[in-house]
Amino acid sequence: MNENADGNRKIESCGTMNAEMFCAAGHAMVDWIADYLENAERYPVLAQIEPGEVRASLANEIPEQGETWNRIWKDFEKQIMPGVTHWQSPNFFGYFPANVSYPSILGEFLSAGLGVNGMLWSTSPAATELETHVLDLLVDAMGLPSFFKGAGVIQDTASSASLCAILCGREQALEWNGNESGLSGESATAVYVSDQAHSSIEKGAKIAGIGREYVRVIESDEVCAMNAEMLEQVIREDTAKGILPAIVNATLGTTSSLAVDPLRAIGEVCRRYGVWFHVDGAMAGSALICPEYQALADGLEFADSYCFNPHKWLLTNFDCDVMYVRRPERLVRTLSIMPEYLRAKQADDVINYRDWHVPLGRRFRALKLWFVLRSFGLNGLRSHIREHVRLAELFAKLVRADGRFELISCRLNLVCFRVKGDDAMNDNLLQRINDAGRIFITHTKIGGRYVLRFCPAQMNTQERHVRSAWEEILRHVSDQV
Ligand code: PLP
Repeated sequence: MNENADGNRKIESCGTMNAEMFCAAGHAMVDWIADYLENAERYPVLAQIEPGEVRASLANEIPEQGETWNRIWKDFEKQIMPGVTHWQSPNFFGYFPANVSYPSILGEFLSAGLGVNGMLWSTSPAATELETHVLDLLVDAMGLPSFFKGAGVIQDTASSASLCAILCGREQALEWNGNESGLSGESATAVYVSDQAHSSIEKGAKIAGIGREYVRVIESDEVCAMNAEMLEQVIREDTAKGILPAIVNATLGTTSSLAVDPLRAIGEVCRRYGVWFHVDGAMAGSALICPEYQALADGLEFADSYCFNPHKWLLTNFDCDVMYVRRPERLVRTLSIMPEYLRAKQADDVINYRDWHVPLGRRFRALKLWFVLRSFGLNGLRSHIREHVRLAELFAKLVRADGRFELISCRLNLVCFRVKGDDAMNDNLLQRINDAGRIFITHTKIGGRYVLRFCPAQMNTQERHVRSAWEEILRHVSDQV
């Protein structure tokens, strides 16, 4: 540190890097990222290393003197890159996509540069107002219920959004007593999900103190959707036993097969019993940007809360989950805190997003989403979704045409299939395909059977990748069948 002309102390440089060096390293890194994304397919999709290998290569002490960027960067390439799994490879067909895009990366970068914490309106008014505004734009663009306007918040993940919904449902069931006296002496509360719901709901129930025992799992039907009549019966039974139904979680696009629960029928049950109704649209929710898929959300007008992940399928870097609540005041009441040091001189009617999620601090995530929506426009976003649906349908056609395989389902960007034979045979096939490193696919269980999942939805996945993935699968199956 030294003093400038006004006698104020200033920090001359951070670590070993000054502004000039930052610009040089930054420009080079932008070039590197662009090259990486354009050529990610040159890497084996899964990291080809053994457990512990990355750590073993790393220095065991923080250096006494700061190191040069060149040295750090060389180590990144040498020690870290071999241990990276290439989610951005167009040959990554596993789990779900983790979309990135250039405008989104710039938004992420800018957010890091601004370094604001938007916990209160006044700690960065633009962070709060852009967030509310961008989420309102999505309400119109996705045909969502208009009461979600002014009631959106960006969470880190769908898991966090669901946890907030569970906490609201629990507080509602306990008639808002829980805020004051905790759960001691309260009646048991219950969460309702189908057997296809994501594990984050059970995790949320555990965190919320509801307990795994009170997660009621409703059996799904032949298309993997929740049975609303069975749901009502279980709620009735619980109520008769004095257990308070807190929240029903329905899924718009299940993890295993993108099945959609009957939102309207479930919503009507929730209305009848006064239960919080949360809809989890983690991956499939992005498809609502296309008018032809908005019917999937029929019944969403019954929802108390809804979330989906632009960080999965809407070209926005992880993390970015969009959550809407019917009555934001209930979310705020559930999560609000007001220590003296957070009192700010600001108008009463502004949004303080610190009360809309679990942490206090929050990043300026709306920037990347805003950049994405403006850069791609509705046409660009819709083409992105439609192309992946087309690729999934193409893959399903290839599966259907080969007598050795069985097509289990094809919904939006996800194909579930299996080779005719037992589970061990399918498991073996999966291992061989993934061990070869050219493509990556994952599996699930549907109806008790081992099923392979193929999700062609990364930023640069094209028809040629899908066709060569199929050839790769055939190469391994021909050894086996
Ligand atoms: N809900 C569903 C339906 C999912 O498919 C997933 C991820 O696979 C999640 C929730 C969890 O998403 P996140 O990582 O954003 O918590």
